[in-house]
Amino acid sequence: MSTDLDFGRYARPELGRLFQALNLDVAYRRGRGDHLTPESSDGAETADQVLDLVGGAGSSLFGHNHPALVAVARRCLDEQLPFNAQASIRPGAAVLAAKLSALVRATTGVDYVVTLGSTGAEAVEAAVKHAVVERRRRLGALREELERSLRRLHRDGLADLPCGSGPAAGRPCGEVVGAAVEKVTELLRAEPVLVSLRDAFHGKTTAAGTLTHGSNVPEDLHVPGPRRVRLADWTPEAVVAALDDRLVEICTVTLDADGVPQSRARNLSPVAACFAEPVQGEAGVREVPTETLAALRRLADRHDAALVFDEIQCGMGRTGTFLASEPSGVVADYYLLSKSLGGGLAKISAMMVAADRYVADFGRHHTSTFAEDDFSALIAAAALELYESHRDRIAATGAELRDRLARVAARWPEAVVEVRGRGLLIGVEFRLPQPESALLRAVFDAESLGFLIAGRLLHAHRVRVMPTLSAPTTVRVQPSALLAPEDIERAVAAFDDVAGLLAKGDYATLLSHLAVPPTGAWRPRQHVPSPPRPRRARHDADVPHVVFLANLDNATTVRSLAPELAEWSESRCAAALDRMRGELDPFEVVRRRVTSATGREADVSVVAVPFTAAQAVDALRAGHRPWLSRTVLDAVELGVALGGDVVGLGGYTSIVTGAGRDVIENEVRVTSGNSLTAACAYDLLQRHLSSSGSGARRVGLVGGIGNIGAVMADLVAPHCDSLVLVGRPGSGRRLAAVAKRMAHLVDVSVAEDLDALRDCPIVVSATNAADPVILPTHLAADREVLVCDLAVPGDAHPAVAGLPNVTLVSGGRVRLPNGQTPHFPGITLPPGIVYSCLAETILLGLEPAAASPSYGGLSVDGVLSALELAGRHGFHPTRITAADVSTTPWMVRDSTGLTTHPEVGI
Ligand code: PMP
Repeated sequence: MSTDLDFGRYARPELGRLFQALNLDVAYRRGRGDHLTPESSDGAETADQVLDLVGGAGSSLFGHNHPALVAVARRCLDEQLPFNAQASIRPGAAVLAAKLSALVRATTGVDYVVTLGSTGAEAVEAAVKHAVVERRRRLGALREELERSLRRLHRDGLADLPCGSGPAAGRPCGEVVGAAVEKVTELLRAEPVLVSLRDAFHGKTTAAGTLTHGSNVPEDLHVPGPRRVRLADWTPEAVVAALDDRLVEICTVTLDADGVPQSRARNLSPVAACFAEPVQGEAGVREVPTETLAALRRLADRHDAALVFDEIQCGMGRTGTFLASEPSGVVADYYLLSKSLGGGLAKISAMMVAADRYVADFGRHHTSTFAEDDFSALIAAAALELYESHRDRIAATGAELRDRLARVAARWPEAVVEVRGRGLLIGVEFRLPQPESALLRAVFDAESLGFLIAGRLLHAHRVRVMPTLSAPTTVRVQPSALLAPEDIERAVAAFDDVAGLLAKGDYATLLSHLAVPPTGAWRPRQHVPSPPRPRRARHDADVPHVVFLANLDNATTVRSLAPELAEWSESRCAAALDRMRGELDPFEVVRRRVTSATGREADVSVVAVPFTAAQAVDALRAGHRPWLSRTVLDAVELGVALGGDVVGLGGYTSIVTGAGRDVIENEVRVTSGNSLTAACAYDLLQRHLSSSGSGARRVGLVGGIGNIGAVMADLVAPHCDSLVLVGRPGSGRRLAAVAKRMAHLVDVSVAEDLDALRDCPIVVSATNAADPVILPTHLAADREVLVCDLAVPGDAHPAVAGLPNVTLVSGGRVRLPNGQTPHFPGITLPPGIVYSCLAETILLGLEPAAASPSYGGLSVDGVLSALELAGRHGFHPTRITAADVSTTPWMVRDSTGLTTHPEVGI
């Protein structure tokens, strides 16, 4: 069901990426009625049909390509009707405008002047503009009248006469009128105010976007538009009085029959228009109560403002009456229509203004190239006829569908909050599930739920749904008036299935469509700057809090982090991780308390950094290090927000941030944990070297210019007879600098060829290479060899572990004191054993005054201090050999057959 079209690259990159992640990257080849025919990956049409309940976000009231509307479109083309005939009489537009006016007049008894446009937002913009102009013209006329009356008072020598009554009694009438002129002038200059409702959706262009209250749109995607006030409290009293404080009082003066000036108060307002959708579609299909609509009418009247009903989604018959506001009996001044007006074929919108309010020259100056074309207007006129012949069917089908869905909701109350709506505008609100595991809690959020449901419905039932835009836990159901009974059955069965899975917590089935390998190319998500960081939450308890960041070891870590997905195979886990790569934010996996041998305690949060070791290697190879680093910095942000005193960087999180150098924090200590890693290896090697006879104390060190390798060279030099620093071709000069540093301690040489290891009974390796560098052929075959592999991913090829004469030791494991065995999901080590980098993080928590020994480059002193800290708190370096490793499940191979060394740390 995927397409090769690179929609994501040139069209809408973020959506392309998201659709792929959610397995919603489907292209459709054909649409007819309520069905769409998808395209397969080779571009061909597939046989299966998808039942489309999205209905063009409410635009396909008559389905896709309704024959009667297609016939009109075809006729327009066959007759070569001009599409572009601007600045001429447009017969189609005239016919449509007359029809629209008549249809609305049938309810309101008023005539309308219709301004056509192409999109819903364009109609909203036109309404904003017309209302502002209307108000300006009214105020302008008032100012003219006041100025004329002031001039008259002066001409007749009456300006100094005091007012006889009213609020300005006693004040000279000329001064009173002068003050009124000034106030009106001020109001004319001031920015007008627009009113919209909580959760309103009026489009996304600048002015319309200001009226929209889309909670799921990032704050910084809003461009300041006209001033608006949002009404949160919908009780009639609150609505009517909501803007009383904006009213501006002026005094006008009239001369009574005796020529005595009398003053009178009059209220003016900066409010130009009040907008409302009688049924809020994008807010999750919510009716605005009739009392609120009536109160809005009173509010608009009180401020001499226009009441605008945005019926772009709910109007045009979708709810069973032509206007959704019809049953309320409340009459607006402007009505906006679009979506289904175009019959699902034409892009058209209409802004209808009550004829007695219309600003005559508005249409002369408000132009839009594509508005009023005959093609769209004639299709819309035909759509109006279709509405009239389908009116009853809309109401009946809608009632049946809603009733059946409500029964699903009643069956699965744990999953469905409510089914709402009227006619064929229905919303099914789901409850946000609360899975046991932190991983699935991170997967299911209010933003993702509707799309995850959409994926399940599409892949398991061939039913297409979409969440409403600003209430994404509500799934919209907006089929056409032609919906067949068998389609109602199919839709209901699909909703029943998904609600049942949610209610039963069967996430493995619910999310199974994600466990399919993605087909398109992957691109990292673009970074969105975060709002200013809140003050760091002070840890409330006296117990220090450390936060340890760990990338996922490998695909199966998914199962340990989310036991709900236990039935997923390794390849399904891998597919899901590849599909979701870069979509999940870091999340806290678990919080545990660890006790030192001294009795001191520290709380340890493990934060999952959602990429696997293999994905990190791939990303490094593909040049996506900035994305990796950014992801880690997001995790650090979370660590700080959690109140961490120390942030530890496990596994790749330290590698991709330059051993922590990219993490710049002043209030928390940051550690890569590498000092204790080196210390553990040093502890082992020192003991091994001291028990080795002379001649057996030759050490080959691979990766001596790296973070851990360099300090290992310094550490082992005093304990061995000879040291050979081995690097890749071209590294000789830098290795020579390291060699020079320790020439006084040991017989040291440099080699650019791994064969130089062949006479070394001890090999220490700590490179940053993505693939194994030490092969069996590089090692001595005729004697015992100890290979201490500190690299992530491992430097030793898996075959090295199988060599009979080789002991392969993975470095950096520590046993916790007092036999405690806290469980850290996702970190698979024997009970009571933790990675040394986690241990170092905990140790820094236990020692609030200790500086981090592992921020950037390491030093011998830092390593020794880490070892000393570990000893003081009863944390003991422990040795895990190849024998342990090969039998433990945390040793895995990636698809290339190379070890990925799943260890977090070292
Ligand atoms: N108003 C309402 C009520 C809407 O539902 C929409 C679209 N969802 C719009 C305005 C904006 O329409 P468009 O997307 O065509 O600009």
